[in-house]
Amino acid sequence: MELKYILERGRCSWGKCYFCGWGKRQVDIDIEELERRLFNFLLKNRRKATINRLKLFSSGSLLDEKQFPDDFIEWLVGLCEKLEIEELIVESRPEYVNERRLKLLKSKNLRVTVAMGLELADDEILLKYYNKGVRVKDYVRAIETLRREGFGVRLYVLLNGHPILYSNPRWHRKIFEKTMNLAYSLADSIVIINAYPHVNSELWEAWIRGEWKPLDKRQFLNMVGRWLENEKVELDFKNYNFLPKFPSNKRIFLRGVGLKYLVHPYYEVWQDYIVRFYEPPVEKIYALFLPCAYRKPYTRSKTWKAILNKISGYSFFKKLHLIAVSSPGVIPYEFIRQYPFTSYDWQEWLETDKIKEEYIKVTSKRVRNYIEHHDEHYKHYFAYFRPNAETLKAIRNAFKEMGLTEKLTAILDEKTYGIIEREGFKPAVAHPKALNRLLNILKAEFEKTDTRKFD
Ligand code: SF4
Repeated sequence: MELKYILERGRCSWGKCYFCGWGKRQVDIDIEELERRLFNFLLKNRRKATINRLKLFSSGSLLDEKQFPDDFIEWLVGLCEKLEIEELIVESRPEYVNERRLKLLKSKNLRVTVAMGLELADDEILLKYYNKGVRVKDYVRAIETLRREGFGVRLYVLLNGHPILYSNPRWHRKIFEKTMNLAYSLADSIVIINAYPHVNSELWEAWIRGEWKPLDKRQFLNMVGRWLENEKVELDFKNYNFLPKFPSNKRIFLRGVGLKYLVHPYYEVWQDYIVRFYEPPVEKIYALFLPCAYRKPYTRSKTWKAILNKISGYSFFKKLHLIAVSSPGVIPYEFIRQYPFTSYDWQEWLETDKIKEEYIKVTSKRVRNYIEHHDEHYKHYFAYFRPNAETLKAIRNAFKEMGLTEKLTAILDEKTYGIIEREGFKPAVAHPKALNRLLNILKAEFEKTDTRKFD
């Protein structure tokens, strides 16, 4: 089996790459503790199966003696030999590849490969944009040394790690091709990585400013092109299970109305993620659009509690995908506990006609984007809102523009809403009459495809 382990200690000696957040972290841990953790990890896994290959990720350089002293390297090689591991893959910057350190890594029974982040083999990119602090010739020299000493070579190629590349795909492709030709001639294996916004990196800031976006799968594969089938090439499209993350010092409570709060950059990056990267849960093939609530996460609100109490006990519920639609956009249930969806307050009572108009326009576009990308997944959509709600107008507009009105059922009708309104009950969607209607419509829809009666 192949094992991966994140071996974090100290700090990357460079720590300045434009796209990298890991290299800026300082991890204080004693060598003894590091050894104890790695030892336990390997032992636990070895009980399950033979370890053929061990990949160590070190956010910096295993060959940098300040980060990993000589004793540790000797201990590591000894341990791998004892556990009869066949191949060890470690990471390093090129300037730390030298004969003295490599000698410590040498072993008769263990194949050792050194992986380096070549990124894009172009000095202008490396120095001016990626800010790697090394040139192409530094990699070539390091690889010559590795080969001379009998080591394997693995290279990471990083696509789209700077806005300049995102905005100029043709140039990007040219440099990528040049990189791959060089990497192919020098390495045993090549990993093509799609850049994602690491927290604490400059790329993250560019992403929030709207100057850069990660490539989606289609764009990424398009760029990879002919290298897709190459025997040396591995792809890393969605590294570290990418999710828009906001460090605590960047989090703010978004209270207010108007365009500033409607198209806030934090909402925009999330909407882009939800549209281009997110995949709805396989079994949830019916969408139920719901309003947001003042209390966050929404499940703590009176409305969501009442809705969930009413419908969650039925077997059809597992096919139902709850999706909030509100000022931050379209928010699938899985994300309602994520920042910023727990930290905003759209003050409805401050809305003017102009703001309402903007809200409908922006929300309609967001719903449309969502449907355009995910419609194949859903059999039908339900919307549970007041009949006069701006959000419902926006949803209706989106479906109308796409010619999909038949796939949408608005649950709450004028008549039922009129009765509730006369009673002065708020919020209307938590009223028993409205909830009964919701349940009955859902039951009727699901009974069409399921012979069971949902009583
Ligand atoms: S990419 Fe590598 S060299 Fe650059 S800062 Fe990150 S860990 Fe350091």
